[in-house]
Amino acid sequence: MLAANGVYAEGFRLAGLPARAGKGLAVLTCMDSRIEPLAMLGLRAGDAKILRNAGARVTDDVLRTLVLASYLLGVDRAMVVAHTKCRMASGSEHDVHAAIAEAGGLDTRSLAFLVTDDQEATVRADVQRVRSWPYLAHLRVGGFLYDVDTGAITQLC
Ligand SMILES: [Zn+2]
Repeated sequence: MLAANGVYAEGFRLAGLPARAGKGLAVLTCMDSRIEPLAMLGLRAGDAKILRNAGARVTDDVLRTLVLASYLLGVDRAMVVAHTKCRMASGSEHDVHAAIAEAGGLDTRSLAFLVTDDQEATVRADVQRVRSWPYLAHLRVGGFLYDVDTGAITQLC
């Protein structure tokens, strides 16, 4: 990885790029390695703030980050982008705890993984959570679903 970074740094061309989001956009999506947040939206480095977690969920930390992004980093709109075939939407909370216990023997039941059995309803609820939060009342936010088999994004709300 460090050798690859050496090559990257040799050809580095982003020096001087402003920290503000060039297109005023924040994108919250899943940590899933099949997703290329910039490429799927026709964006480049500097265009958008990218937030990622398991399941693209609007957590307290996402809200905290969006407040900083919106007041200090030029963000005035946000996309919540869940995806098809997401592990966080294909089983119960119990299933995930059981899978982890089976894989490593750990009891993770004290953690909430925010698994959903109705992904679209969850995206809508998460978008509403942003919209109804007073600190982010000025932010335009929409909910979307990315198809990992076609690359297509569908707007849900
Ligand atoms: Zn996912």
